[in-house]
Amino acid sequence: MNVYDSNRMADVLTPLGYAPAEAPDGADMVILNTCHIRDRAAEKVFSELGRLRVLKQAREAEGGRMIIAVAGCVAQAEGAEIVARAPYVDIVLGPQTYHRLPEMVARASRAAGAVIETDFPAEDKFDHLPEASALSGPTAFLTIQEGCDKFCSFCVVPYTRGAEQSRPQAAVIAEARRLVALGAREITLLGQNVNAWHGEGPAGPSTLGRLVRALADIPDLARIRYTTSHPRDMDDDLIAAHRDVPQLMPFLHLPVQSGSDRILAAMNRRHTAADYVALIDRLRAARPDIALSSDFIVGHPGETDADFDATMTLVRNVGFAQAFSFKYSARPGTPAAAAPGQVPEAEKDRRLQELQALLREQQAAFNADCVGRIVDVLFTGAGRRPGQISGRTPWLQPVHPIGPDSLIGQIARVKITAANPNSLNATLLTQPLEQERTQA
Ligand code: SAH
Ligand code: SF4
Repeated sequence: MNVYDSNRMADVLTPLGYAPAEAPDGADMVILNTCHIRDRAAEKVFSELGRLRVLKQAREAEGGRMIIAVAGCVAQAEGAEIVARAPYVDIVLGPQTYHRLPEMVARASRAAGAVIETDFPAEDKFDHLPEASALSGPTAFLTIQEGCDKFCSFCVVPYTRGAEQSRPQAAVIAEARRLVALGAREITLLGQNVNAWHGEGPAGPSTLGRLVRALADIPDLARIRYTTSHPRDMDDDLIAAHRDVPQLMPFLHLPVQSGSDRILAAMNRRHTAADYVALIDRLRAARPDIALSSDFIVGHPGETDADFDATMTLVRNVGFAQAFSFKYSARPGTPAAAAPGQVPEAEKDRRLQELQALLREQQAAFNADCVGRIVDVLFTGAGRRPGQISGRTPWLQPVHPIGPDSLIGQIARVKITAANPNSLNATLLTQPLEQERTQA
């Protein structure tokens, strides 16, 4: 979502004459678009600001000026505290106000003292943003939903991104059509809780399943993905869309966080481990080749060895194609931060290593299973080595076969020849396919 937001900030600044620079040295403005989900992310912002200060001073010594802005959820959560710790910052703006960036830049250029905008404005930023004007490749992100009302015990999102909000279906489809006209072949729908999307549709509030079906009617949109979902919001219609809509890729990131019902309750996740496993069974019944990804937190307050073992058991039972796993990080203001039973750091480390070893094994097994198979790849750019082009399988695995640049933006068939930990080797088999859906 921060990649999407950064692109939109670039769009909003284009009319002012700003264009993306390769590096911060010598830039007229640097925006740090930040994430507040775990503690170290916020600390990284302050160390990065320290480095930028040197560049800003160098520019001032030459008689120039560098505006430094901090955007995103660290800005939302820390507000004026950022300027207190780093007084050379000119602008602090939360994720809901970046449509006002031009005005903030004008104010920062005129006045001494920082401009701080971290309120949740009454207007919808999406109504005030220019249309996307450039695309960096055949894959695009599209934010359809923001914020969250779930209040998991550990999570800052409901506080930094605010209440759940869905963009109307017509606005989403119009943006998708523009992205496709600019060359997108794949769109990933984004939201903190994307499957809770309930944007206004032709006949009242719509659902993600219906939105996916509507997007599938856009010619040349070959692949549709969505992230991140909550298990509680996977409804029958969305599961059916995985069966019925060939453009909807057979890959789902569905965070479970823990395999222990006691910890899931403490986390306020509102589902059990058995609910999650049953949901996976239904998804696999609808789309047998669907690959699963998840997020896990180890060491949530109160997590015992037995709770952690339950997580390991769930992972063994489900089998993930990939996953993200984190040590619990206390976020000020969240209920878990003040809960008893905080787990010692060394124990969190031990559990994380054990979990990650199992997840790595499962990812390797999933990749190894692909060897010898023929799969469709959407090529997105040049490969790392001369002559190579790079793309993704339907299950998001990177592949870099030898092939002509003319295939970039196209889907072509490859044979998988070997598996690496994070990518696959492949040889190109055919000329580009006309449309993935006609082959499905
Ligand atoms: N909405 C998604 C996830 C959003 S945050 C969901 O409900 O699953 C992305 C991931 O960051 C979470 O899934 C969680 O695994 C991790 N995360 C969030 N807060 C965290 C914290 N305080 N400590 C460690 N990991 C955290
Ligand atoms: Fe955070 Fe996701 Fe829980 Fe919302 S559902 S509070 S975003 S972890």
